[in-house]
Amino acid sequence: ATPTALMVGTGRSARMGILIKNGEVLEAVNDVKTVVFDKTGTITVGKPQVTDVIGDADKVLQLAASLEQSSEHPLATAIIKKAKQSGVPMSPAQHFQAIEGKGVRANIDGESAFVGNDKLLADVTVSDALKSKMIALQQQAKTVVFVGQGTQIVGLIAIQDAPKSTSKEAISALKSQGLKTVMLTGDNSAVSKAIADQVGIDEVVANVLPADKANQVKNFQQSGKVAFVGDGINDAPALSTADVGIAMGSGTDIAIESGGIVLVKNDLRDVYKALELSKKTFNRIK
Ligand code: ADP
Ligand code: MG
Repeated sequence: ATPTALMVGTGRSARMGILIKNGEVLEAVNDVKTVVFDKTGTITVGKPQVTDVIGDADKVLQLAASLEQSSEHPLATAIIKKAKQSGVPMSPAQHFQAIEGKGVRANIDGESAFVGNDKLLADVTVSDALKSKMIALQQQAKTVVFVGQGTQIVGLIAIQDAPKSTSKEAISALKSQGLKTVMLTGDNSAVSKAIADQVGIDEVVANVLPADKANQVKNFQQSGKVAFVGDGINDAPALSTADVGIAMGSGTDIAIESGGIVLVKNDLRDVYKALELSKKTFNRIK
């Protein structure tokens, strides 16, 4: 009867848009203690928008968009979109360099230029006035990037990626089952905490480089089985490392391949449903 129950269980869930790809996850679900989420595109919509430009707006946007032309980062997409809307022309960039978890460098008009977070500002000093602007924007859950040329900061750009409308409910359902909820992100801690507060996440691990996401999952595995929910290329190792890897259907192919469960409807509330269904299926075939 075992294979039949498995097929019935997974057939029902498939009709609900929850694909359970293997039996291993069914075995792990009963012991899951922690659900770890990626931030961008999983808890948030993943389509960041520019909300504020500090400094000479046209100049700041022109430099930033010129730098971001070769970047595939969602922040780059937001900056280029805003520059186009503002009718700002872009200059050609030479020696483009993407620096993981920090930003982008390139030569614009023959001078070295940058856009990215404060970790990118090795020999650039930031005025106290700009620092307090940055902090105020971060407290509004906005990601702030510095735009500069040579050793001068030209301005700041604030970018907002709002939580999905269902994230709060999704998290609260998991917490009601006694599960601990965690958010992992490469973004800085002020922004991440502000978003975590909006959706009720218990714990935040910020400033995580993509390569370290899987190690973070291992850390949480010390206190029980872990489910990881993500969508990006950089989430694939964490999805494989977790006892239950849950990929968003809208995610990249590699994320979907790495997940034991796929949420076809991209509804974060289906994390709770997926865990409950898997438990029922497993307890029936046990
Ligand atoms: P996540 O996708 O979890 O937000 P990333 O590692 O992709 O994390 O990015 C972390 C941070 O690095 C961003 O919040 C931003 O500050 C900076 N950053 C990365 N890439 C870029 C880019 N192309 N332009 C500007 N900032 C960037
Ligand atoms: Mg993501």
